[in-house]
This record gives sequence, C-alpha cells and structure tokens, in this order.
Amino acid sequence: MLTKPASVFNKWTRDLLHVLYPQNCLICRHEFNQSKLAVCPVCISELSYTNFEAYSEATNLDKLFWGRVDLSGTYALLRFKQQNSTQQILHELKYGNNPEIGLHFGRELGTILKQLPAFSDMDALIPVPLHPKKEFIRGYNQAEIICKGITQASGVSLRKDLLKRTSFTESQTKKNRVSRWDNMQNRFALRTQQEHNLQHLVVVDDVVTTGSTLETCVRILRNQFPKAKISIAVLAVAE
Ligand SMILES: [Zn+2]
Repeated sequence: MLTKPASVFNKWTRDLLHVLYPQNCLICRHEFNQSKLAVCPVCISELSYTNFEAYSEATNLDKLFWGRVDLSGTYALLRFKQQNSTQQILHELKYGNNPEIGLHFGRELGTILKQLPAFSDMDALIPVPLHPKKEFIRGYNQAEIICKGITQASGVSLRKDLLKRTSFTESQTKKNRVSRWDNMQNRFALRTQQEHNLQHLVVVDDVVTTGSTLETCVRILRNQFPKAKISIAVLAVAE
C-alpha cells in the first residue's frame, strides 16, 4: 500500500474510529464503523471527484481526445494527482489484490453514467484488455472489475469478448507518438466479428494519462463498428 502524507489529525481520527467501531476501509484499510459505508469518513473527505456531470463546457478529458478520435461522451469519476487518495485507490486496485475497491467505485461510476444524457443509450461496456500474462499475475483485469461495478449499477452488459491484447507491453516512454501508435495498434485486436446490433460502445479503463491506450482501442472498434457511438468512461483522469 502507498503511504501518503496524512495529517496528525487524520491519524488521530482514524485511530479513534478504529477503537469505537472497528471495520476495514477499502482505501486506507484502517478499521472504522459506519455499517453502510465501504470507505471511511476520512478517505471520503479526501476524495477528489471531477463533477464533470455539472460541466456545460468541454472538460480536460474531452480535450485530451480532440483531433485524435471522435467520441460521443467521456467521463471520469475522480481526479488523479500524485499523493491524493485516488492514487491510493488505483494502487490498491492494481497491486493490492483489492478488486472490491474497483467494484465499489465502478458502481459509483455506473450510477452517474446511467443518469447522463450522453451515456443513456450505452449498450456495451468494453474493458481495456490486459495481457493474459499480466492478468494471471494480478488475478484480475482492473478495467473488467470496474465494468462489473458499472453493470451492477446500470444493467449495461459487460463485453470483454470484443477486444483482446495481442502481445506483451513494452516500455513506451522513449517512443514518439507515431511509432507509439504503430506499436500500440499491434497490441490490440478485435476478438469477434462485427455485431450490427450494438449502438453505443463504452470503453472502460482505470486511469487516463496520455490517452494512447484508449485511443488505440477506440480506433480498432471504430473500424469494426463504423455506425456505432463510442464513448469512454474511466475511474480517474490524471491532472
Ligand atoms: Zn479510509
């Protein structure tokens, strides 16, 4: 688990809650008790929600994909900054063997998505695939776990059969954008034949930073579903 700078007050609050009502928080794993909450009040107070649903203008997530791929909608639940609790959530999800945290925030994400006009007709959730080797090591694909949470809240189908990884990830950092795209395109493939009945595909991942992975997935899906709407939904957007 990551350490983050917690104030003495927060530590004291957690310790007090632990003594009064023991139960484990999904994020900090400290014990607390609020029987209907999965996340302790201290972590809730530190969460940074995007509130993109209240924006009338384009968000930074919309702008990230401008000129790259056409998207019907974009949404991120949380803001990711170094050392904020979103970082801890993503770390728990990827390395903490804590899929429950992905389900929890996936449900929060799904509850909002089903109320957004841009997502109201979504009919397939497509998790960004993880290479099978990585999925075996981690025990799960975190994007798929988030999709499961969205499905629980919205009833929209999870379609992990539509995209697959084709080769193991290599470091992207030293490549320019063009060679990165060539490299990325070779790493994903469409798994099944085109389905004409799908109207609105939503590609789901845990976090967006450069957007390269999502862009690749959207381009591949676009080739196969030329008439469908395509959107993206993520747990967190980097700032
Ligand atoms: Zn907590």
